[in-house]
Amino acid sequence: MSNSVDVKQETAALLDKLGVARDAWTGGDMVSYSPVSGEAIGQLKSVSAADTNAAIDAAHEAFQAWRLVPAPRRGELVRLLGEELRAAKADLGRLVSIEAGKITSEGLGEVQEMIDICDFAVGLSRQLYGLTIATERPGHRMMETWHPLGVVGIISAFNFPVAVWSWNAALALVAGDSIVWKPSEKTPLTALACQAILDKALARFGSDAPANLSTVLIGDRFIGEAMVDHPKVALVSATGSTRMGREVGPRLAKRFARAILELGGNNAGIVCPSADLDMALRAIAFGAMGTAGQRCTTLRRLFVHDSVYDQLVPRLKKAYESVSVGNPLETSALVGPLVDKAAFDGMQAALAAAKVEGGTVTGGARVVEAGKDTAFYVKPALVEMPKQAGPVLEETFAPILYVMKYSDFDAVLEEHNAVAAGLSSSIFTLNVQEAERFLAADGSDCGIANVNIGTSGAEIGGAFGGEKETGGGRESGSDAWKAYMRRATNTVNYSKALPLAQGVSFDI
Ligand code: NAD
Repeated sequence: MSNSVDVKQETAALLDKLGVARDAWTGGDMVSYSPVSGEAIGQLKSVSAADTNAAIDAAHEAFQAWRLVPAPRRGELVRLLGEELRAAKADLGRLVSIEAGKITSEGLGEVQEMIDICDFAVGLSRQLYGLTIATERPGHRMMETWHPLGVVGIISAFNFPVAVWSWNAALALVAGDSIVWKPSEKTPLTALACQAILDKALARFGSDAPANLSTVLIGDRFIGEAMVDHPKVALVSATGSTRMGREVGPRLAKRFARAILELGGNNAGIVCPSADLDMALRAIAFGAMGTAGQRCTTLRRLFVHDSVYDQLVPRLKKAYESVSVGNPLETSALVGPLVDKAAFDGMQAALAAAKVEGGTVTGGARVVEAGKDTAFYVKPALVEMPKQAGPVLEETFAPILYVMKYSDFDAVLEEHNAVAAGLSSSIFTLNVQEAERFLAADGSDCGIANVNIGTSGAEIGGAFGGEKETGGGRESGSDAWKAYMRRATNTVNYSKALPLAQGVSFDI
């Protein structure tokens, strides 16, 4: 792994190009590191709890003006954001690769996802429909109306440093909400870049966008907590670990605020006897090794029918042995670095625990080149397990795939659902009974259930999220926008009488 790209210099050039002021990322107390080389690439100024409160108050004022701007006009701002993102795609994608360690196509893919959600939200800005509902009272009309909700607080994880913001921001902005974003402390530079891109769109949009419509709060989890506790934040959309959700959820519940919780996954695939094994192999390889196993939808558990186990698993092991691991800025390697040493240590601990449970490990060793001991590259690990136990039951945020044999379909469905998380799932089969059963009420219990597609790589058109300890939130497509608005039921009496519902009489 040569390191001829000067990561620091390139970061500075990209931030300049994207319009981020130098003093926003130099001389501050919070250091951003590139997982590519492990070196510091920015020193940001973190905000205080008092700054956070003031920013939220200002965002609330912005909300009060923005909610009165017609929704299709709000959509115009998001259309401009989509245009600015198209223009910035190469630079922002590269910055994602530098700060989150993603390979080039995934860095660019993440920005494409931002563009896609902007397009979706622009259309949505003319489709924020309510219903007209049949009423039992003559001369009355009953309907529901959707109104802007308030300040939307966004907390995001390091592994989708820009897309998760845009899923929330694009919907919230067309919904008439203002936004306040607490990005991951591991990826704050990409957040500054997103705000700079939105600022360009705002400058083109004109004066009916209020000041402080969107704010980025640089800081650690305590800033997230201040946001969670602030009474003027109507909704917090929090993406990250289940541990984080366990802290955030009750705090929001305590003040009856809304929550969208997008938490950890422990996603599984089932390979059935009739599966197209070539297709399954590719889908499994991408799902399990892609993004170095650092997606919430990463494939972590694989159940293979015993009639095809010996055909599939040796091929899979070969793919694990030969997959290219390396610097995403300089090579076309398919697997980039882990985010930091803690991620590497967590992976090694899980592999050791798997061995104790009888697991046989292929891969998993650290790849160090050219004395770069501050970066953590690793060969993805495939672990053949005698049963689902120990670390298999938990999410380890690293490229570990646990592979298990099965023989009975009902039993494997039970095993599939026997973990705490419920995000994504997939089945590989050409048998329609198995496919439909997997998608049925007594099939996969996850928010995402796929047939002949891997667990990762969702499109923005569908609602994204999962059940159980994944938190139950839904973002992105379908009717996820409803979480960013408040619903009012309105009944209008255009008769000359005042009939009461349910035949109640109250004559005075
Ligand atoms: P993390 O939980 O460590 O941090 C996520 C964010 O939460 C950060 O911005 C952090 O500062 C903030 N935070 C942490 N504790 C907080 C608290 N008590 N109050 C308020 N904010 C707090 O997660 P991570 O390591 O950055 O990301 C990896 C995790 O995120 C994995 O578990 C992964 O599955 C999950 N994830 C889920 C989804 C999804 O859509 N379901 C998407 C991406 C990542």
